[in-house]
Amino acid sequence: MTLLTGWGRTAPTPATLARPRSADEVAALVKEIGADPARKGNGADPARKGNGADPARVGHGSRGLVARGLGRSYGDAAQNAGGTVLDCAALRPSWTLDPESGLVTASAGTSLHDLMTGLVPRGWFVPVSPGTRYVTVGGAIAADVHGKNHHVDSSFGAHVRSLTLVTADGSARVLGPSDDLFWATVGGMGLTGVIVEATFACVPIETSRMRVDVERTRDLDETLDVMTATDDRYRYTVAWIDLMARGGRTGRSVLTRGDHATREDVRGHVRGDPLAFAPRQRLSAPPRVPDGLLNRATVGAFNAVWYAKAPRERRGLIQGITPFFHPLDAVAGWNRMYGSRGLVQYQFVVPFGAEDTLRRVVGALSTRRVVSFLTVLKRFGAGTPGMLSFPMPGWTLALDIPAGVPGLAGLLRVFDEWVVAAGGRLYLAKDSRTSASVVAAGYPRLEEWRAIRDAADPDGLFRSDLARRLRL
Ligand SMILES: Cc1cc2nc3c(=O)[nH]c(=O)nc-3n(C[C@H](O)[C@H](O)[C@H](O)COP(=O)(O)OP(=O)(O)OC[C@H]3O[C@@H](n4cnc5c(N)ncnc54)[C@H](O)[C@@H]3O)c2cc1C
Repeated sequence: MTLLTGWGRTAPTPATLARPRSADEVAALVKEIGADPARKGNGADPARKGNGADPARVGHGSRGLVARGLGRSYGDAAQNAGGTVLDCAALRPSWTLDPESGLVTASAGTSLHDLMTGLVPRGWFVPVSPGTRYVTVGGAIAADVHGKNHHVDSSFGAHVRSLTLVTADGSARVLGPSDDLFWATVGGMGLTGVIVEATFACVPIETSRMRVDVERTRDLDETLDVMTATDDRYRYTVAWIDLMARGGRTGRSVLTRGDHATREDVRGHVRGDPLAFAPRQRLSAPPRVPDGLLNRATVGAFNAVWYAKAPRERRGLIQGITPFFHPLDAVAGWNRMYGSRGLVQYQFVVPFGAEDTLRRVVGALSTRRVVSFLTVLKRFGAGTPGMLSFPMPGWTLALDIPAGVPGLAGLLRVFDEWVVAAGGRLYLAKDSRTSASVVAAGYPRLEEWRAIRDAADPDGLFRSDLARRLRL
């Protein structure tokens, strides 16, 4: 048994960690665990067939299995207490590029970091990158991840042409966008089976640099106005909100928006190969950090300096991929900075027209001086047909809050109610604390997803802590 957590380092649970190296080994493991007589009809998932059996008594097979990538989801999505977790990052990383079409076929364990390191020098970029490139292809599809380009390019699943899924009977099924099971898997949080390979379309680039415009806003309303009026001019946009600012400055932000730089853009800025890309992690967070390091004083000071050092307006800045897309990746294990209790990520989306909900949330956080190290606002465009896919057209806000902040649980429960009342939803890949009813209210296609999942996995083999907690 290995103790596993998500990136937030809250709620560790033990599981048997299996490390399949190939799609065949995945299929063999799925068959073996699926055939465990202790499991059938004896699962501990009250929402499905189970009866809450004691995992120690019936053996780990009774708790089923779930795939795990690089464990970058913040909560318990890639955990399975008392059961099996398939470490798919162990799947031999391999990928091929068709340079004519830009289609990449990759094993599900390949990380976006590995892909970018190989693709960028050849003039290609992944279609969607989350705020870290240390995620696997399998994890990117299972959470249907979004990036700063959602308003233009939608989420990862929109670019997937086919995927191979090992289902509960151990068979490998090749699925495409015309299959319901494909769209139950995109955003399905690993609960339809194990993705072992996928083919997706990449984006041509001329350089490994970004051409970036930076702009500061005075308050939340100005942030929303500027983003609404001008986001369409950029492929990638994001607003970082200084949550520690109060009064008339509540919601003041630094907007960072850009596009892949052309060769012409970088002339005079870049010597050597304009497509060179060989990122390294130079810093690492210490193994143990005292609790309470991130508090009102330190985060407030960081926020004030960050806002003050951003230019009021600067156009045509040339930046590398890491500072633009993945600034946190420069420090390995940065989540340890939150101390022994870890951190809670809270990310929701509300539809356009529900800006008042956004104002209420930002206002409440700011008034209570809730410490959030990184508060990020984005505009989403059209979503995918993924039934449990998170993005929908609207505003999405993500917060990083140290777990254990007094009153946090109650405050987030209030936010849950506001978000659902506004027609919004929470992001399952970030969640570690919400309730089944909030998820059911936010995902109106949950029943449709369940029917497809149940047809593919009638005995409830695929389970996770998240699935049990939220009665998926
Ligand atoms: C610093 C940081 C920034 C982030 N920024 C963003 C962002 O901007 N946008 C965004 O959308 N997300 C973001 N995330 C979240 C992250 O992109 C997702 O949680 C992603 O799913 C993590 O991928 P992973 O490989 O680590 O998967 P894990 O976290 O290990 O697993 C996530 C889910 O995928 C499933 N899964 C993993 N591999 C497979 C497989 N082979 N087959 C089937 N299911 C599988 C798991 O069962 C689980 O449900 C961020 C996370 C961090 C730490």
